[in-house]
Amino acid sequence: MVRLIVIFSLALLFFSCAPKEQPFDLIDRDQTCTIVLELGDYASVEAACAAYDSIDWFDADNRDDDICRQALAAIELQDYLSRIIGVPKQQIPIVDTAALPDSGHLVLLGSPQHDDLSSVRRQIKRAWRKHKSANDQALRIDSFYRHNYQGLVLSGRSSVAILYAVYELLNRWGVRWYAPDKNGEYVPHYAKIGIHNMHLYVEPSFRIRGFWMDAQRIDEPADSLFISWMGRNHLNLFSNLQDNIGALKQRGVLLNTGRTDVFLTLLRPEYQYRYNHPTFQGDEQYPMDPYIISEYFKGDTNRDDKLSYTEAHPEWFGIEADTSDHRRVAAGFSHICLSQPEAIREFVQTIVDKLCYGDWQTCDIIDLWTPEIWCTCEHCQRMGNDSDKLLYLMYHLNRALAAARKKETLQRRVFVHGYAQNSALDPPSIALPKDFATANSALFLFTGPRCFNHCIIDAKCIDINIWFAKNLWSWLGKKKLYDGDIYIAENYNASYFHNLPTLHSTVMSIDIQDFAELGVRGINFQHVRLRKGGVQVLTNYQFARQAWDAHVPTDTLKQEFFTLLYPAVSKTVADYMERLELALSTITTWCYYLPQRDYASLKGAASTGSGLIKMNERFVERTSDAIDFNSLWENTYHLIFEARFLMDELLAENVTEDVRRRIEELDEELQYAERMIHLYDNVISYFTRRPDEKYIKDEAIYRLNENMRRLRHYEIPEPMFGEANVLAASGIQDMLERLIEEEPK
Ligand SMILES: [Zn+2]
Ligand SMILES: [Zn+2]
Repeated sequence: MVRLIVIFSLALLFFSCAPKEQPFDLIDRDQTCTIVLELGDYASVEAACAAYDSIDWFDADNRDDDICRQALAAIELQDYLSRIIGVPKQQIPIVDTAALPDSGHLVLLGSPQHDDLSSVRRQIKRAWRKHKSANDQALRIDSFYRHNYQGLVLSGRSSVAILYAVYELLNRWGVRWYAPDKNGEYVPHYAKIGIHNMHLYVEPSFRIRGFWMDAQRIDEPADSLFISWMGRNHLNLFSNLQDNIGALKQRGVLLNTGRTDVFLTLLRPEYQYRYNHPTFQGDEQYPMDPYIISEYFKGDTNRDDKLSYTEAHPEWFGIEADTSDHRRVAAGFSHICLSQPEAIREFVQTIVDKLCYGDWQTCDIIDLWTPEIWCTCEHCQRMGNDSDKLLYLMYHLNRALAAARKKETLQRRVFVHGYAQNSALDPPSIALPKDFATANSALFLFTGPRCFNHCIIDAKCIDINIWFAKNLWSWLGKKKLYDGDIYIAENYNASYFHNLPTLHSTVMSIDIQDFAELGVRGINFQHVRLRKGGVQVLTNYQFARQAWDAHVPTDTLKQEFFTLLYPAVSKTVADYMERLELALSTITTWCYYLPQRDYASLKGAASTGSGLIKMNERFVERTSDAIDFNSLWENTYHLIFEARFLMDELLAENVTEDVRRRIEELDEELQYAERMIHLYDNVISYFTRRPDEKYIKDEAIYRLNENMRRLRHYEIPEPMFGEANVLAASGIQDMLERLIEEEPK
């Protein structure tokens, strides 16, 4: 929770001999305000800020990082202040501490080091003593009033916190960063900024806030507009997409590997053994083999003159079948056997080496996603459940990281983020070792595939979300065995949405608050749209604001969003988005569960008996107390018509060029959503009617033929996940082709 502590001047007087604070104007149209910071050896603030691309963000020396980041903070503050007041930037000079003016109005970045401000320094020091939390993103904003100087001190536990303090201040003055495009921000205009007794302490609701991007599937790096938008909204997690790294680091963003498949890619059985095996000729150029010779070693069994990992150590590789025979390793099967300590050692060392010398040199976080299947050998089966296994691996990775830090081969702190999904969502069953590095780790619980028709904690969602909620409570409950941080990996733009214009504002408002109150300490979602966000501009913005302050009033936030981004048509746009949100809240049922259903059994059920087949939210014939998907789908169908009606109204409005561009973007998305919903409507109609409603089934097939003909060449606007054709992306193309083929027209 963001804590806001207002310390009254009376208390201040009691503790210090500083003069009582009087109201003052920090800046107005005629008066100068100076920004003061430490610039180190840099000749100017511009030079310090521009160093983001050349300094090493990953070495042991943080001083250059801090100066560069604070230089950005100063330049941002100067830029926005000059636009708020409407004065040239020269009226807001930025100076090094050594060049402190003799008197005047100041904004000090960091606790003041100059001797003339020693009483202010003591004031800030006293203020910080009250806060027990060690959160290095915690910040303070304090006003001071002295004889020669009046102003603000922006202080924090790190340079990132000081940068955040600038954005916190600007946000409180009414600046908004809605979208990462040219006119996506709002800057208010004032004649002056008055200050009186401003004393704030702010700590984010979630330590980690940002996006999980699949580094394998998304090859588009974030551009500088997006990176600025992230930083200004206090977001601090992104994937190491190998571009603009310096800009991301300057904004305080932590970079993860963005890979779900480390098991598959790091230590495959067929990869060449990277050591000089004592009995093998031809690998003498490699380092000495640190492992003992395997009792199963049979030499270069495939006679390709190379020694592979599986030839050197067949016992390291897991097996799918329930047998303890490690020698018959299926080609390409790559899950290491967890009960082989040397296999674990080699696996974590491969990760450490990649962090020190490979393409993860710019990573701050290693992601370990639970694989679909762990080794099923006898020994591994006795190692507990899937989350026990994930934590076991996290434990060993942390130890390897600590060892590399000690040897100084690894010069920076690297965090370990475990991602539990599916069966690994069950909480652990085995107590963790006492020396488990909890401070260096976090465990993400992945919500997908979740229901968006219900909140994550809602007793009514008996088919989908209830299972996740039960697990979440257990992970955070009194009897928990893992007491490190629990984070949430959300699914607001899941790949199975196929770029449909989904938004989840209502669900997010409640869920994110609930997460914070339950004790969740980090949150991310996959996969943020980097360009042409459409309706998801709201998702991204609301997410950013709630991740920083889970209790921000979202009603006001949205009202402001519509008013400022869609002036003159805000009410209609708000109505439009509400309809679309409701229409697509059923998406998990038809976009995720329906495509997974077996075609033959769906068709079989629909070809006997009479009456409507009632489905639940997993698109399975429902029991009496389940949610009635058929009615929900009817709503979806009608709501999309209402959305179209409102969109046509919007398109006819006389609006500014920016608003028109935004509306056209929404319209393009809506056209796609309409096509997809009409397509699915015929499929759902066909599979939920029995033979006594033959005319409805025939009608569905007739329309399906029409849909298919029109959609064969229709491309998704701005596809994020490779597939651009609507039919291919629908997830049910095979099902559709079969239906059309088997049913007479
Ligand atoms: Zn095993
Ligand atoms: Zn539900």
